[in-house]
Amino acid sequence: MDLDERFVLDEAVKRTQLVSELLKDKDELKKAHDEWPLLSADDCKKILEKMLTAHCKALDFRAPAGGVAIVELAGNDNGHYAPDADVIRINTKMPAYDDFELAMDLIFHENSHDWRGQLVKRLNPSHPKPLTPADDPPYTQALMFQCNNSGAEIVDAGEDCSSYQKQPWEDHSWTTGPKTARMLAKGLAT
Ligand SMILES: [Zn+2]
Repeated sequence: MDLDERFVLDEAVKRTQLVSELLKDKDELKKAHDEWPLLSADDCKKILEKMLTAHCKALDFRAPAGGVAIVELAGNDNGHYAPDADVIRINTKMPAYDDFELAMDLIFHENSHDWRGQLVKRLNPSHPKPLTPADDPPYTQALMFQCNNSGAEIVDAGEDCSSYQKQPWEDHSWTTGPKTARMLAKGLAT
């Protein structure tokens, strides 16, 4: 199953706007890019939360209340969005934390998981900002995310890695994360 084409196109337009907005602070971000491995965890957190705020503003969704937590996690977990704590955790032990572009990829990937959850919640008519068929393309994409949102509907990474990445909610994050990070890195290099 492919993502809704109109949703993908709409997001691509907003991604370009997001990156242009971020590049208004090019000097600050270029310094962060060049000095990333030397930055303190607090300085990394500030930059990562700046990405979160800009991403949520460009796509019009709520940022995680807990922002970004830079912590040591068990196993090979690069990081994740934790819905219960409403926070994005980044694992200091993994390479994605040490490399600017990988860290950006991870933050846009995990923030997209939160966005996907928020879109599914908005399918409930009693939500304060309900999605209706008049709200396409997010409406159709939210219906697709809803069919692949929890429990048995989800393919586990250990079960079948390519199906894991292709299921709608991962496909979306695996597309958005690297595309946004790459566009930002290119913008900083020119
Ligand atoms: Zn993911």
